[in-house]
Amino acid sequence: MDRLPVVVVHGGAGNIPKERSDKSRSGVCSAARAGYVILQKGGSSMDAVVEAVTQLENNPIFNAGCGSVLTAGGEVEMDAIVMDGKTLASGAVSAVRNIANPVQLARLVMEKTSHICLTAHGANQFARVMRIPEVPQESLITEYSRMRWKKNLAPAANPVECQMGKMGTVGAVAVDIDGNVACATSTGGLLNKMEGRVGDTSCIGCGGYADNQVGAVSTTGHGEAIMTVTLARLILFHMEQGQSVEEASDLALAYMKSRVQGLGGVVTLDPQGHWAARCSSLQLAWAAVQKDTLHYGINSGEHFTQGLDEPH
Ligand code: ASP
Repeated sequence: MDRLPVVVVHGGAGNIPKERSDKSRSGVCSAARAGYVILQKGGSSMDAVVEAVTQLENNPIFNAGCGSVLTAGGEVEMDAIVMDGKTLASGAVSAVRNIANPVQLARLVMEKTSHICLTAHGANQFARVMRIPEVPQESLITEYSRMRWKKNLAPAANPVECQMGKMGTVGAVAVDIDGNVACATSTGGLLNKMEGRVGDTSCIGCGGYADNQVGAVSTTGHGEAIMTVTLARLILFHMEQGQSVEEASDLALAYMKSRVQGLGGVVTLDPQGHWAARCSSLQLAWAAVQKDTLHYGINSGEHFTQGLDEPH
């Protein structure tokens, strides 16, 4: 199939402050390139999405890993998920602390346990058993996230508005040369969330889903709305009914907006290599690589392309 392989990544739905848009754009572009390098060498879609999301977690501009938003109590609690479309195996962590790359821990939950999701203390205990080093919380907190935390502590702050102003959840979907699809998503969650809040990202069918028989999705946006409509699985349902990746993504996002007033963004692909990056929010930083061409955009409806070797 000449459309394969493909990787599509996102850096969160919301409103990106102007001064942060260049870094968001270059962050998603380099993560997509990193994923594509793996796919080009014949690597699996799972390896590609985990590599892309690891890069985004390590980039302080995004709300995942280093750069995560803070809970109401000023702590970092992160959620992540991976799913393998070949076997339907998945792994997730929620409310995990002091871990640089929650997406890698989620993959270990998938590979080394008989469970799908580990949370909070249990997730950290598992990380210790797996010899994943704990990092000081301070190393995950940026000046920007602390500033936003302080600014939005006011009780009158609207949680949805707070969040949509501070985008940055990250995710990726990929299909490898064998036609296997995978997804990965990682986040610090909602700004000023309650301690122990479990978001959509770690919930299968909400923050992501991958099935070789249909496709793969990674989502971002207001987590409670995403969970209410099981956004990732809803998109795949529409694809099963014959809709294209684009139509299915738009239909599900429109449903979430009309039913629960939730805004978000998604990256979606199918095993044939059709893909889409769509949002109902004003912006979604996204990038894709297919056939040595880099595609990217930030504002809703935007789509630029350039050769993979050209500097961005
Ligand atoms: N969906 C994430 C959450 O609610 C936030 C986001 O995507 O920006 O935890």
